[in-house]
This record gives sequence, structure tokens and C-alpha cells, in this order.
Amino acid sequence: NKQVILRDYITGFPKETDMDLTTETIKLKVPDGSKAILVKNLYLSCDPYMRSCMTKLEGKNYVPPFTPGSPITGVGVAKVVNSDHPNFEEGELVWGMTRWEEYTLITMVDRLFKIKDTDVPLSYHTGLLGMPGLTAYVGFYELCSPKRGENVFISAASGAVGQLVGQFAKITGCYVVGSAGSKEKVDLLKNKFGFDAAFNYKEEHDLDAALKRYFPEGIDIYFENVGGKMLDAVLLNMRVHGRISVCGMISQYNLEKPEGVHNLFCLITKQVRMEGFLVGNYFHLLPKYYDFVMPLIKEGKITYVEDTVEGLDNAPGALIGLFTGRNVGKQVVVVAYE
Ligand code: NDP
Repeated sequence: NKQVILRDYITGFPKETDMDLTTETIKLKVPDGSKAILVKNLYLSCDPYMRSCMTKLEGKNYVPPFTPGSPITGVGVAKVVNSDHPNFEEGELVWGMTRWEEYTLITMVDRLFKIKDTDVPLSYHTGLLGMPGLTAYVGFYELCSPKRGENVFISAASGAVGQLVGQFAKITGCYVVGSAGSKEKVDLLKNKFGFDAAFNYKEEHDLDAALKRYFPEGIDIYFENVGGKMLDAVLLNMRVHGRISVCGMISQYNLEKPEGVHNLFCLITKQVRMEGFLVGNYFHLLPKYYDFVMPLIKEGKITYVEDTVEGLDNAPGALIGLFTGRNVGKQVVVVAYE
């Protein structure tokens, strides 16, 4: 059983060498009476939150940290190969918490969802139909109550979450602008996801001026994925009664000391509501999200771009690539196709 393990807790930017590949011998059979299931992992999801699991924050981790020397945990799509649990049968497909290895013995089956729709790509359950999809839906609709005609700005807009927020905002009738870190990503935003405009934040030395160019009348909704300098520039450009959905701050995750935010006073003068959320507390909305998104997928009104690497050997590189912007779209690792 090939596995990806974390060597030890880290500081700063993660490196491929922080992870190791190991192999162990296992029985492809669940112990009798264990109520566990054994799954074959098919697709594994690379998610920015996993960086926080690589550091032990003395009681401050919002998701449990990884255990050095043990396989990395994460969300994946898997097939049941053996079951001692009455609710799971051999051959069933599931998505949810698993580990970065070929086969995983899962004892906490309450964290798994059965996959019923097999006429959409299975890997979508790591993105569009998984945690990032629900994140986009909750962060945009539940937190921001968008209205037709409003001005929406999204950072890290071509990623797993951002590309969906942009498309949801267009479907809602908003004016939508996204920022991303390369020309390829900017083209994708405009030509594939239907954003009204997009810009490469790495080429803008004055983010405030860039935002004024795209939003001469200001921003009603900001979907925050990056934090830092971008957030400061956005605060200056919010409209009265604007909403900021604080989904992530990826520019800060590898810093020893987070950057300061200077323009929070704008929250008062513009009477802006800024709200953070954890998607883990919204899984009860998954059926509502599927009712919303499934018809859109089937009618071809939502498109989804994935960046796929093959094999566990390439998984560490794929994970750290999230922090350099190497991924174009949702980063997925294929362990096996069936
Ligand atoms: P992405 O697919 O967007 O991948 C990460 C992207 O972030 C990179 O491709 C890169 O794109 C961008 N990025 C990396 N470093 C920086 C930086 N220093 N400054 C600006 N951009 C950077 O990831 P997700 O869509 O999965 O996640 C997006 C955000 O949502 C993250 O902050 C994540 O933590 C958060 N999140 C929060 C959840 C919640 O419950 N609150 C749940 C899921 C995700 P580029 O080339 O454009 O720079």
C-alpha cells in the first residue's frame, strides 16, 4: 500500500521534501466486527487548508493536524472494496475524508457521502460537487445575499472555489471581475467562465488603481480567497452596504507573521459586513446545493476546470503547487481510475 506521509511539522512554505513516499503491506479485508470499510482511493483533492495541518498550532488548528510519519489525511473519491458496515457494500462509490494512500481502512464512516450520480465525472466530487463547490455556494449565496446587477469581485478566481463563485455570480445577473496570477488564468476567466473582466494581480503595482479601473462605482460583494494587500485595496473600493465573504487568505498561510490590514476603518464608513465561515459547518446544505447545481451542470450552464496529476508520486508536488499558483483550476491527484 503506497502512502504519502508528512515527515515532520513545518514552518514557512511547504516543500516536496516535507513529504515522503512509503509502502506498507496490508490485508485487503476489514477485521470482522470492526464496522469499518476498506476503500480503494481513486481521486485525491489538494486543498489549501491542508497547509495548516502541516503545522501544530498548540490547540489553535481548526482542522486536526496531520500526524508525522502517518499518511496525510484529505478529501477523496473512493470505491468500497470490503465492508463490515451494514450501510456500505462492496463496489459502492463514496467521497469524503480518506488518506493519501492506495487503500484506506475507514472507521469514521459518518464523514462519507455516497455517490449516486455517476453521469458526471467522478473527480467532480473533489471540487464542483464536493467541498469547494459547497464553499462557493455557501460563501456567495448564504453570506452575501447577491442581487441582480451588483458588482462582484473574486480573488484567486480561477481556482477550485473561485471559478464557481464567478459562474454563480454571472447566473445571478451580477457584473463579475476576477483576479488571478497568470495570463493563462486571466484568459480562462474571461473566455471559459464568462467573467466580464479579469486581471493579473502580479502585473498590477497599484491594486487600488486596478480595482478603480474595473469598478468605477465600487464593489458590492468581495469573495475573499487571498487576504493581505488585495484585501486592503478592496476595502478602499467597497460600496456602502457591501458584503465581504471571507473564505480564505492563502497569501498569509506560509508567513511566520501575517501581514497587517490597514483599511478596516472602511467597514464603518461604508457600513460593510465582513463575515468569515468554515464550510465544515454547512454540510447540512449539501442537498440544497445539489438541487441548485445539478440542473445547471446537466444543462451545460456550469463548466469546471480541473488540473490533474497522475499517481501518488506526484501528489506532494501538486499540493505545494497551490501556494505558487502552479495549478490551473481544481488540483486533483488520480490514484486509480477504477
Ligand atoms: P485554488 O484552487 O484557488 O488554489 C490556490 C490558488 O491560490 C493558487 O492557484 C494561486 O492562484 C492562489 N495563490 C497562491 N498563493 C497566493 C498568494 N500569495 N497571493 C494570491 N494568490 C495566491 O484553491 P481553492 O479554490 O481550493 O481555495 C481558495 C481559497 O478558499 C483558499 O484561501 C482556501 O483556503 C479557501 N477555502 C476556504 C474554505 C472555508 O471553509 N472557509 C473551504 C475551501 C477553501 P493564482 O495563480 O491566481 O495566484
